[in-house]
Amino acid sequence: MMDVAIVGGGLAGMALAWELNARGVSVTVFDEPRDVRRASAVPVAMAHLFAGRSFKPSDKLLDSFWTTKEVLERWRALAPQSVRPQPMWRPLLKDDRSSAQLLESWERERAGLEAVGVVVERVGPEQTQQALPWLVPSLGALRYGPAWSVSVDALLDAVRAELMTQGTNFISERVDGIEATGKGVTISTTAGRRTQAARVALCPGAALGDWFPNLQGAAFGGELLVLEDQPQQGPTALVSAAGGYVSIEPGVWACGATRWPVEQWSQRTDAQAAQDLTARARRLIPSWPHHDKAKARIWRGARWLFMGDRLPVVGQIPHSPRVYVLGALGSRGLLWGPWSARCLAALICDNTPIPQRISLERSGKTPTRWLFGAALMAL
Ligand SMILES: Cc1cc2nc3c(=O)[nH]c(=O)nc-3n(C[C@H](O)[C@H](O)[C@H](O)COP(=O)(O)OP(=O)(O)OC[C@H]3O[C@@H](n4cnc5c(N)ncnc54)[C@H](O)[C@@H]3O)c2cc1C
Repeated sequence: MMDVAIVGGGLAGMALAWELNARGVSVTVFDEPRDVRRASAVPVAMAHLFAGRSFKPSDKLLDSFWTTKEVLERWRALAPQSVRPQPMWRPLLKDDRSSAQLLESWERERAGLEAVGVVVERVGPEQTQQALPWLVPSLGALRYGPAWSVSVDALLDAVRAELMTQGTNFISERVDGIEATGKGVTISTTAGRRTQAARVALCPGAALGDWFPNLQGAAFGGELLVLEDQPQQGPTALVSAAGGYVSIEPGVWACGATRWPVEQWSQRTDAQAAQDLTARARRLIPSWPHHDKAKARIWRGARWLFMGDRLPVVGQIPHSPRVYVLGALGSRGLLWGPWSARCLAALICDNTPIPQRISLERSGKTPTRWLFGAALMAL
């Protein structure tokens, strides 16, 4: 049986382990669990189809979304409280250019979207106010689904437990080198372990640039404000507008997310983050409590962004035939991660080419882009 070692047990590594396990591949996941950058510890994340101001389904977006839907439904069976289906509300705010652009895009795209099974409805101002009594007065909203509010940290714990029962091996150690041998790859860890695998897939999240310093991208830190013990006001909801998103659920309100170069992010205090995020939340919910007066906490993590098009980077490392990468999930890991993992599993198992949209070839043909960092062993 072929065996694959995965470096990194965040969303990318776990989605890949899930796909490889389904194909009967023997998998070992190495994960350093204490990395403060780990983005997949995010307690409240949104999974939905459209980011930004456009409803135009870009190439492969729908393929990716339907894979997310299928995988989230399976994972939800393992951890029902961690994946909560909710419609996504995009309020149309007064005197707001983004809202106007969103509405124009909806008018252009809606017939085409309905034809492929995606329904985006326009909801009037009164109905919106009734459904979301805490929302700032608006011109109504665009509402679509399926969408989910996901506690990624708790969900991945459940996925990991399931994979363990099916034979996936997990090792909580940091990998500090990989080396080609005649038959495969030797993986070494900072704890002194040396293990062989036929192939290795690198899914290191924000540490991608440590492995490939010439890659065109960077890690960006982010913060999320989570208020606990909140009274329930109206139905649960996901709302995205005015440069932020809020998730309102029984007892827990969350507002996200900031984006900072990691050097700046690592110096920011919780008080600064809480102040910024409270201001953002109040643009949507004027009665959002001050963080001093609520049971509040700041969560932090970092995501790596490919600066070409901010989509994932997936494929086989040039000149290193046994080494693969799945990274740069950016701020939309739930939308692009499961499909990217499925594509990589198909490449590893059947040699199916990675779709151009997420292929690492688009990062440029220069082989130096894919030279390993000096601290790690070149292959
Ligand atoms: C503030 C914020 C808000 C976000 N909100 C959303 C959202 O609403 N919706 C959404 O879809 N996405 C969201 N994201 C993005 C999402 O969290 C990420 O895209 C996704 O979690 C990245 O997963 P990953 O596995 O690539 O990286 P990570 O989660 O960072 O996992 C990488 C893992 O690899 C380990 N690792 C790295 N190097 C090594 C090594 N050498 N040896 C062993 N282990 C190693 C790390 O310790 C880590 O555990 C958000 C991210 C942030 C920061």
